[in-house]
Amino acid sequence: MTLKKNTTEEYQGFEQGPIRPPSEAESLLVRVTRNCPWNRCTFCPVYKDTRFSIRPKDHVIKDIDSVYRSVKIIQKTAREEGRVSLAEIRKTAGNGDNLDPRAFNAALNWVSGGMRSVFIQDANSLIIDPSDFVEILTHLKMRFPWVERITSYARSHTIARISDDNLKSIRNAGLNRIHIGLESGSDKVLKMTKKGVFKETHIKAGLKVKKAGMELSEYVMPGLGGKAYSNEHALETADALNQINPDFIRLRTLAIPNSVALYDDYETGRFEKCTDLMMAKEVLLFIESLNGITSVVKSDHILNLFQNLEGKLPEDKESMLEIVRRFLTMTPARQCVYQVGRRLGFFSRLSDMENPRRLEKAEKACRQFGITAENVDEVIDELMKRFI
Ligand code: SF4
Repeated sequence: MTLKKNTTEEYQGFEQGPIRPPSEAESLLVRVTRNCPWNRCTFCPVYKDTRFSIRPKDHVIKDIDSVYRSVKIIQKTAREEGRVSLAEIRKTAGNGDNLDPRAFNAALNWVSGGMRSVFIQDANSLIIDPSDFVEILTHLKMRFPWVERITSYARSHTIARISDDNLKSIRNAGLNRIHIGLESGSDKVLKMTKKGVFKETHIKAGLKVKKAGMELSEYVMPGLGGKAYSNEHALETADALNQINPDFIRLRTLAIPNSVALYDDYETGRFEKCTDLMMAKEVLLFIESLNGITSVVKSDHILNLFQNLEGKLPEDKESMLEIVRRFLTMTPARQCVYQVGRRLGFFSRLSDMENPRRLEKAEKACRQFGITAENVDEVIDELMKRFI
């Protein structure tokens, strides 16, 4: 694909894209591209009906400078006034300086989060010219030299095509972590969901990121193989990760909102979605099959059944497996209460069921809405759509 830069576009002010990884909640979001250049994954609702574009480099630089000016004013006001209210900061900011309000709000959030990290948006920032990326990162580091972490999403397909030297230059300019949506290591699942990349390229890209000296975070999507490929999805994904040994493996369970292409397959029965019970068995097989690596497993997404399924491999493998095994050996009625309580936000882990107030809330919801072990999966599907 040849990507042309829009050299005639006028600057429209500070911009931020729609998403970031959960771990980047406190990061400053710097948008270098808009939307996703691939935009065909059948499970992905994020950039539907949008066009991909690369923002002119000088516009990104202007965004960074706008945030810089806002940060300086916030810091100055706080220093002069001691304890300072949000209203006072806004008032000071309104007195001249012609600040971009969106940049100012972004700066305010960033200052309150400690200004330690920056996330480069949107879905595949590394598709831009490597020398432009280096220039943007250099400017960012010049303005905010104290920043400890600069991260970005990237597609394996794109990373695999960047030379090792260019990746190294990007690393040296400040990008120190890349988040890749691996989703699956199974070629059948990757093909079925039109991910636009296969296992071999995922492995190649992951190894290149590590070789460049960046931290690597790989996203895995439990349930993406459906009932047909659940086992293969677990085994092949674990095998790909065993060959990469990323710093982080992050779980984000499949959900199917009406807006995605996969929904049609689901509605017509071509894609049979795993129940929570099957998903738990798949996750068990997946973690059992992770071997010889030292990754940290994270489960920091609201869609996941167990938010505490976290730990460092290999030492925490058994304790992670124990969480899933405990769920699988519960009675169907108790599993149903946990599933409902988890999706309604009363539980984040199995031990939350020992809290009588939380347990009562989940049991009450089951009684109130007539949810039983027989119909729980249909209800869960509806609840999960709300979190996408
Ligand atoms: S590459 Fe990522 S952002 Fe783009 S369509 Fe696929 S999942 Fe969505």
